[in-house]
Amino acid sequence: MPGHAVHQKGHYIDPIDSNGSGHLAPQKNIGLLPVKRKPVEPRNPDGFDGYPALSNYSKSQKKDEECDLGSSISVARLWNDIMETAKFGQMADCPEGMYRIALSKEDQMVRDWFKNEAQSLGCEVRVDQVGNIFAVLPGACRDIPPIGIGSHLDTQPAGGRFDGILGVLSGLEILRTIKDSGRQMYADVAVINWTNEEGAGYQSGCTGSAVWSGHVTKETALNMLRADRQGTFGSDLLAIDYQGSVPASHVHNGLSAHFELHIEQGKRLEAKRQTVGVVTNIQGIRWYKVDVRGRRAHAGSTPMKDRVDALVAASEMVCFLNRIAREYDMFATVGVLEVEKASSNIVADNVRFTVDLRHRSEDLLCRVESELKARMKELTRTYGPALQFDMHQVWHSPAAEFDQSIVEIVRRAAITTVGESQVMPKMISFAGHDSALVHLTGIPTAMIFVPSHEGVSHAPEEFTEREHCGAGAAALYRAVCLYDDRLRASSQKHKVEPEAR
Ligand SMILES: [Zn+2]
Repeated sequence: MPGHAVHQKGHYIDPIDSNGSGHLAPQKNIGLLPVKRKPVEPRNPDGFDGYPALSNYSKSQKKDEECDLGSSISVARLWNDIMETAKFGQMADCPEGMYRIALSKEDQMVRDWFKNEAQSLGCEVRVDQVGNIFAVLPGACRDIPPIGIGSHLDTQPAGGRFDGILGVLSGLEILRTIKDSGRQMYADVAVINWTNEEGAGYQSGCTGSAVWSGHVTKETALNMLRADRQGTFGSDLLAIDYQGSVPASHVHNGLSAHFELHIEQGKRLEAKRQTVGVVTNIQGIRWYKVDVRGRRAHAGSTPMKDRVDALVAASEMVCFLNRIAREYDMFATVGVLEVEKASSNIVADNVRFTVDLRHRSEDLLCRVESELKARMKELTRTYGPALQFDMHQVWHSPAAEFDQSIVEIVRRAAITTVGESQVMPKMISFAGHDSALVHLTGIPTAMIFVPSHEGVSHAPEEFTEREHCGAGAAALYRAVCLYDDRLRASSQKHKVEPEAR
């Protein structure tokens, strides 16, 4: 069944990287993607205000009677915001590259910009205890939680200008469009900048949404060490003046729904020449550390039958994992393997390795975890008690299967906006996102993807066409309006019903 019942609260002890790039330290991310540089300036600098089909968004699509948008979003204004805010953290030696680690002074600059823009639109700006910013444009009914449009403004070191940023700035563009059009929203609309989605400066990502959703405690987040170990998440939050007083909790500062527009970070849309993807699932990610203990021994004088070789045992596990991952059609990776006090003529007694498991089903992830443990027991039986394994989970980004009814709203919005042939109706997200954490709370959540040029992200070469940014933002705007109409209709129904009785 789709929805929230399948989720389990996982451990969240020592997370490393929300998007699962697998890099342990931020500096290791730099320049890893061997991608050819291409010109990345706006393709349509003449500033026309729309994708060919976009100029007719609001009026001509009569099929969607429920939803009169008033006016369409401005692609030029959105693109201008993306390019302008890219100056906060622009890399000196690579103008299209970004270096805007969460809670850095560059992050503070873009946060200040975002806050000012939102306030100038008449938004209430709420900052919570872990620095999440909620820019709330009041609607007609202030008794229900806002409809959220969220993503993140932080980047990887040597990251790009679109990952996360497009989602937040599209939200801002939607607020402007609502103001310009004079459309009276029923619910408040909150544009949210979630703190530290990338996790590049600390040991974990999706921090803001993880605390807000109750997946990790506020204390754990605040005490998280910075990668250079010279500060904590909490001290850095204070240093940039973004530790607010609003409770970082979906219970006290809730949402009626959460929508996120994001670049795909893959090649599926580009390969099919489609413009908008409707995301139905986010695959779950589990990270483990495994410690293997054997018996240290001389390479010449210890007969093979007497050995308890920790490296052989670790290798058995690596091969086993590879085999079952193929069998279950999932992703499994051992990216780090370390031999303690390694020497060419010594049988290793201590080996550590990491495991990265990914699949859309939490059940399958649990099953593979059990199978790994069973295989370890089997090896211990074979080699004797001198062989010991210790496997513990260090991070868990939950798998999400979005609620069908909100996915259907996004699908309809996307089709009305760009036409059915331009829409990929069912996509899984292979990377983790704030929306996976928000979904854990039971709040209806949905995501929209737009194409990533050559599938590249987390690199300066990351690029999404201006028209595609506009198409995604327009579909997002329509989805938010459709959801708002639904909230209005359901409240009227509730008002009418008692009288009818
Ligand atoms: Zn992102």
